[in-house]
Amino acid sequence: MIIKMKTGANEAQIKQLLSSLEKKGFEIHSSFGETYQVYGVVGDTSKFDIRSLYAYECVGSVVRIQEPFKKVNRKIKSEDSVIDVGGIAVGGKNMVVIAGPCSVESLEQVEIIAKAVKESGATMLRGGAYKPRTSPYSYQGMGLEGLQILKSVGDKYNMPIVSELMDKDDLPHFEKYVDLIQIGARNMQNFALLKELGKTTKPILLKRGFSNTIEEWLMSAEYIMAGGNDNVILCERGIRTFEQYTRNTLDISAVPIIKKLSHLPVIVDPSHAAGKWDLVESLSLASIAAGADGLIIEVHHEPEVAFSDGAQSLKPKTFDALMKKALKIKEAISDL
Ligand code: PEP
Ligand code: MN
Repeated sequence: MIIKMKTGANEAQIKQLLSSLEKKGFEIHSSFGETYQVYGVVGDTSKFDIRSLYAYECVGSVVRIQEPFKKVNRKIKSEDSVIDVGGIAVGGKNMVVIAGPCSVESLEQVEIIAKAVKESGATMLRGGAYKPRTSPYSYQGMGLEGLQILKSVGDKYNMPIVSELMDKDDLPHFEKYVDLIQIGARNMQNFALLKELGKTTKPILLKRGFSNTIEEWLMSAEYIMAGGNDNVILCERGIRTFEQYTRNTLDISAVPIIKKLSHLPVIVDPSHAAGKWDLVESLSLASIAAGADGLIIEVHHEPEVAFSDGAQSLKPKTFDALMKKALKIKEAISDL
């Protein structure tokens, strides 16, 4: 990192700061101009809160040169990570499509949707059993029974299942029934939960929080990996902006940025980004073209009566059309 001192800063305080950094094991390099004093601080700053330096009155500005994340960093692993989810490889050259309803509503509902999306080429089945709803009066999910429904249908159609975990106390159920544990946007910075996920070997689908930067998102992935679980897949699902037309704004740029900064796979959720079913196809195709490793899409056979997120759910026929186009885009970019 680089520290620029304020003009006319107190020399004794500068000395005190530099010696405290040296005691922490950092090497200091200085550079002086007529009106400035700049110090280069060399060493592993990932465990260091650079903002704490502003407590010294002599400090004008601090700039970090190295990223604060290590295990997720592409600099320590140049090849793409490929995560095995119940026999399906996520990352590398593959395009994975996870599809299913927002919420598990009944065995019959999951069965109808799973059959349809499987026929269209989806390789994993999604469905929420524990729902993070903004209102306590909205549908909260079927809980454990929902996971059991997903598991039985997943087994029938040979599809690994993906479902959202909100509470660490439910982790044993997820270890038993779920192949890929989703951490939703609202829990991306639930650090106690992330620490627990570090202790499991189950793959984690870490969604980006709707008000979080890419760096904060990668730091959350770092929590899981620092705890010992390397099986992390990132999911861009739109961020909150001033735009009102869509539910969120899909940050397509996150895809190539993640590819540059990290070796972890990144998939896109166009459903929660758009909030409207008729935008889902365009966003899906754009995501694949941008280099995403896959998609997670909400599909419902009767979106008009879905318990949650019907407005953004595709009907099986529309999903089928999307799959055909997505495969073409994937093929086209693989040839480039
Ligand atoms: C979901 O996938 O159903 C969901 C609630 O997603 P997010 O956390 O991205 O809002
Ligand atoms: Mn949903």
